[in-house]
Amino acid sequence: MLVEGAILDIDGSRPAYVRFRGGRVVETGSIGTDGSRGRERKVRGVVVPAPVNSHTHLGDAVSTREPPPGTVSRLVRPPLGYKFRLLAETSREAKRNAMRTALTRMVRDGVASVVDFREEGRPGVELLRSAASTVPIETLILGRPVARPVDSGELASVLAVADGIGLSSARDETEDDRRTIARACRRAGKRYALHASEAVREPPERFLEPRPDLVVHLVKATPMDLAEVRDAGVAVVVCPRSNALFGRQPDLASMERLGLSMLVGTDNAMFHAPSIWRELEFAYVGTRLRRRPVSAGFLARAALVEPWRWLGRDDAARIAPGSRARPLVLRLPPDDPAYQVVTRTSEHLILRGLTGEGTGSRG
Ligand SMILES: [Zn+2]
Repeated sequence: MLVEGAILDIDGSRPAYVRFRGGRVVETGSIGTDGSRGRERKVRGVVVPAPVNSHTHLGDAVSTREPPPGTVSRLVRPPLGYKFRLLAETSREAKRNAMRTALTRMVRDGVASVVDFREEGRPGVELLRSAASTVPIETLILGRPVARPVDSGELASVLAVADGIGLSSARDETEDDRRTIARACRRAGKRYALHASEAVREPPERFLEPRPDLVVHLVKATPMDLAEVRDAGVAVVVCPRSNALFGRQPDLASMERLGLSMLVGTDNAMFHAPSIWRELEFAYVGTRLRRRPVSAGFLARAALVEPWRWLGRDDAARIAPGSRARPLVLRLPPDDPAYQVVTRTSEHLILRGLTGEGTGSRG
């Protein structure tokens, strides 16, 4: 099959054709130079690498009612926030089912990989592993030990099954605990991440020391704070819909201007469906509502490119013969690809039946 239109990937956007065989890219080139001579099925569209949802709390998907009013900390702060009480009183089976449903929805959206902050210690990590075992999506789980001060036995036990640790925030933890956790992650070759400057500004030295692999939010960070994050080489995940519920917006325009590595995630599943496309559209519109517009290209990279770079897999963000990308074909006008992808993609515009082996999730 031949897709004629545009490619939007790690190398930017360009008019192109892409030939697929068995779900794999076998050829790309300038429009009009393919050798099919009209013998192949041809569709118009934009070809992109599969997106990554870089921040979720899928456990919260057990919540099906409108969350009660209140501050973000009353709702989601451990150990007594609304969501932690809800998690504690919900059965393992119900939690597993809710997480599996959320993962399945992401697969239908074409998402190839998700980075989840999983609460509830080692059992919490194991439950998400079990929920994800039958769903064709990569699940990077950042778990969280429960005991404070941190118990080295529990920490090792969480790290044995998780891909790293994701903390509530630097100000919810002692410096000793953060150092213990970061060191253990480093030693195990796993990732250390935390929320930062969400409801109040935190000085960068507080959350950048010990150095994390990833920080989430930075809503209250000043441009100088953002420059420090960039200089430390730390990637940031933004979740504009989640922040907007509490009357806040991250300064994406400054992040773009300063050249941060920005990723995007859908945050708590009790607040929003884990749709990366809706998140992108909201981010685009939200920055305009604030009169701090960000480019569609920067947002597209946050879902399609930067997370793969963060994972050390640039190749998965490149549409080329032999690459490891799991491409999506979006049936969108190809004239202004990033704008179209960011503002208009939805599940029903993803071309089905493209993929063969290894990508059966979208087949
Ligand atoms: Zn979060």
